[in-house]
Amino acid sequence: MTALFEPPVSDASTRFWDATRGRRLLLPWCVACERPFWYPREVCPRCLGDAIEWREASGTGEVHAVSVQHRPGPMRDPAAGPYAVALVELTEGVRIMTNIVGCEPDAVTVGMAVGLTWQPLSDGRHLAQFEPA
Ligand SMILES: [Zn+2]
Repeated sequence: MTALFEPPVSDASTRFWDATRGRRLLLPWCVACERPFWYPREVCPRCLGDAIEWREASGTGEVHAVSVQHRPGPMRDPAAGPYAVALVELTEGVRIMTNIVGCEPDAVTVGMAVGLTWQPLSDGRHLAQFEPA
């Protein structure tokens, strides 16, 4: 696969992106709620607490929603063809917007079990993607 959109790094997501250099998927956990949340931000979206720990995710989950993109988005190579954009619910309970790779985009279905895989970015970071488990 060719060049993907390379996401910017915010203050709240620095820790997350640094971990992707070692292919580790970290989730922010609220210490007070004892639950993870997504996306990374300075405070817990449930209780607004700012005591946050980063814990490594299992890397497993299932497709909650999926859409096949036939027209490439920005920074995508039109020759790369259609691709699946999905909301994956991780085993930890958070939902991440991602791509499903490793199978035909039309073969991705809601409820499909998926596992983590990594797409290298140009600066040493990696983009978390998922493939059929
Ligand atoms: Zn909380």
